[in-house]
Amino acid sequence: MSQMSVVKICLFGSFGWDRGAVGVAGAGRRLADQLGGELHAVVLGPAADELRAGLAEISQRVVVAGQAELAEYQPDVALGALAELCRGDGVKAVLLGNDTYSQELVPMLAARLGGSSMADVQQIEVEDGRIRCTRSAYGGKASAVFELRRDPAVMWVRSRALAPAEPTGAAGSVEETTIDLPTPRIKITGRQQEEQQGVRLEDAKLIVSGGRGLGGPEPFEKDLRARAEVIGAEQGASRAACDAGWVPPNWQVGQTGKKVAPQFYLAIAISGASQHLLGMGDSKVIAAINTDAEAPIFKHCSFGIVEDYKRVVPLLTEKLAQLRG
Ligand code: FAD
Repeated sequence: MSQMSVVKICLFGSFGWDRGAVGVAGAGRRLADQLGGELHAVVLGPAADELRAGLAEISQRVVVAGQAELAEYQPDVALGALAELCRGDGVKAVLLGNDTYSQELVPMLAARLGGSSMADVQQIEVEDGRIRCTRSAYGGKASAVFELRRDPAVMWVRSRALAPAEPTGAAGSVEETTIDLPTPRIKITGRQQEEQQGVRLEDAKLIVSGGRGLGGPEPFEKDLRARAEVIGAEQGASRAACDAGWVPPNWQVGQTGKKVAPQFYLAIAISGASQHLLGMGDSKVIAAINTDAEAPIFKHCSFGIVEDYKRVVPLLTEKLAQLRG
């Protein structure tokens, strides 16, 4: 009798049942269905009821390693725990989200499990029992399809842009487990909590981002912040604006910044370099304001205004506030 295929999804209890977890779970469920197998969820650290219930609704088995040592991320401890929880016969794939922990763990976990690995996966298909995944290439200018031939295929997916799973109705079992954790080889001497105002950029529904064309930090403070607040949007920026020190580095959207997928993304004075597009191309509706009609961003947006932002932003904010109201 052939062995049942298993897809594992790995989540961090500290993130809860957020958009990222929902997206990983959706991708895992669909992959398990394509393989005709089971979906098993693995949670590191204490897990809230909402996370347990959300996972149990769509997976056959949920295993929570709720030990206190796993509550805060420690790379080698998390790696040891995941390797322990993901090892096993029949495990075809292991999926993680697009948070920084997962991005760090995926290649190491693949090596530990003797599998193959892929980053930034946008789509997963199964053909003749083989897992193929699509991701962007050349800084977002092309798409590439890879076949992951060695099991398990360990991937991090663009979780926030992926559809949730349809509830299966079958309540999966939820089990607590305690793992023998490795002695940490890395000593964390201190932690700095990112100052969080409003929702995280990755979870924002509306984002207003500014670029080099704003010319300095003042317009971010004076023109954008107040207006973003009016429409309840979070603020982002291009790398050029972050590198210039006009706004904090954690505002950066793009290949080397945050990957966002809001309902609406407004790019103000951002040219639309491929590295920026890579971080926000999954937005539902993209709009841009730019003085240059040839700016690449206009090729990727639903709405574009060729004009100086100083003239447009006040009018647009007023209109958006009315519509939102
Ligand atoms: P510019 O390209 O200089 O564009 C400014 C725009 O403002 C222009 O289009 C101009 O017409 C417009 N403008 C000027 N004045 C006005 C005005 N008054 N009103 C309206 N419009 C105006 N970039 C990222 O953003 N995120 C990343 O994660 C990232 N990662 C990178 C990784 C690598 C390995 C590399 C090599 C680059 C990366 N970059 C990234 C940098 C990227 O290539 C671009 O340099 C950067 O995105 C440009 O930022 P910008 O659009 O703000 O600036």
